[in-house]
Amino acid sequence: MIGVIYPDKYAVEETFQLLKIPWEWYDSSKDYEVVIAKQEDLKSKGINLIDLSEDDVFKKISNLLNQGVMHNREPLCEIYLDELRRKLKQSKQFTTLVEIPPVPWGYSYMVALTHDVDVTSVKERSWFSVGYAVYNSFLNREFINGLKILLAKSFKKRFIKKWFAKDPWNCFEEWIQIEKEIGLKSSFYFIPFKNLAGIDAPKVREAKYDLDEELIRRLVEGGWEVGVHGIDNWKNVKKGEEELEQIFKLAKLKVGTRIHWLFFDDETWKRLNDAGYYYDTSFGYNDDVGFRAGTLQVYRPERVKNLLELPLNIQDGSLFRRKYLNLSEDKAEKRCNEVFDYAKKYGGVVTLLWHQTSLAVPHNWGGFYRCLVRKGLRESAWMTRAIDVVDWFKMRRDVKLKYLKDGNKLEIWLNGLEMRKGIPKMRLRIHVEPERIKDVNGDYVAGERYVDVRCDNGWIGVMLK
Ligand SMILES: [Zn+2]
Repeated sequence: MIGVIYPDKYAVEETFQLLKIPWEWYDSSKDYEVVIAKQEDLKSKGINLIDLSEDDVFKKISNLLNQGVMHNREPLCEIYLDELRRKLKQSKQFTTLVEIPPVPWGYSYMVALTHDVDVTSVKERSWFSVGYAVYNSFLNREFINGLKILLAKSFKKRFIKKWFAKDPWNCFEEWIQIEKEIGLKSSFYFIPFKNLAGIDAPKVREAKYDLDEELIRRLVEGGWEVGVHGIDNWKNVKKGEEELEQIFKLAKLKVGTRIHWLFFDDETWKRLNDAGYYYDTSFGYNDDVGFRAGTLQVYRPERVKNLLELPLNIQDGSLFRRKYLNLSEDKAEKRCNEVFDYAKKYGGVVTLLWHQTSLAVPHNWGGFYRCLVRKGLRESAWMTRAIDVVDWFKMRRDVKLKYLKDGNKLEIWLNGLEMRKGIPKMRLRIHVEPERIKDVNGDYVAGERYVDVRCDNGWIGVMLK
């Protein structure tokens, strides 16, 4: 067993939610295979110690999750955890490491597919923003499509319907079509109130559309997720409740949020939690692609009771907008591959944000989205709505692992295991050479120096040779 001495309860508990292994708080009357502590906090001698005074993994991880870092391209938490895992496995008296890795059974990693709805039609936008879009379309030699935008702004709705069938910046039908073709569902975040820039925000932050109740109902009934694209929920609990209610009354589901423009401060998670949001997915970059929280996993921020954070990794605008990374498609693909490769290596989730209007001119970022989705499918990723990924991690968080080793017999209990409908099962990873396995009560697959057992029930027994 692993015993831990450390003053910061949250930091330890959250670290072991990311590295899901059996552990407990150190009790001097018990024997431990290894103790993780600072040398000075451990009174007894002759104990197998991983000394935190040399490398304080709990502090490093807690800081990353809660403060974040700008322009970070590596999942630092997973890298630190890998190092801790290595130390555990190498530590002298330590026998067998078991863990539930952040990789669903049957898949290699996860991808959360999300869309922010900032705009729903050309008609609702100002002449200035339409003019700018037309100018950019012409620059990209998209003359006909640029003209369509101009006409959609100039003429009455009836006319647009007759000649173009739809407004060019209303891409919901295309999204539904794309995702039906590939058999996936995604999440849409709608701005709950129009003509509201929000606290301390410039007027251009205002949305100009009313919630289309029929569309939202149709999406929800079709299996898509609908959440709040927050205006003031990050800054004020009461406003957060009002924004949540706008979506809840239509969707009647657990409501998650992504804040418009990714506005955020030190109290935001707490406010969102108090207003009743199920999760947030705003912790990412506007101007970059990578790992603001330093992790590929869903986690619970400090001082928050229920709310979980699904970090945002890749958004269309950061890759392609001139004022941000301004990458060519080739370079953008390389940048995204780096992120996906980390997920392949460590498991966890890559969160994609493609805006509702991205399929249309002047952006035309739909082809790139399909490319990323195809890549994920090729690599056997579980690609789904944000809420499903959060639910999967919630199921994993609720499990408490216990294990007993008696000679060659290994018993592992997954207390609190609850299967969820539509959510893939977990896997229990046992770090032993696959040849050493004599018998397991369940399906398993062999990996490199480990075996993964499917978590079908709350007890797994293993006989080693
Ligand atoms: Zn937005």
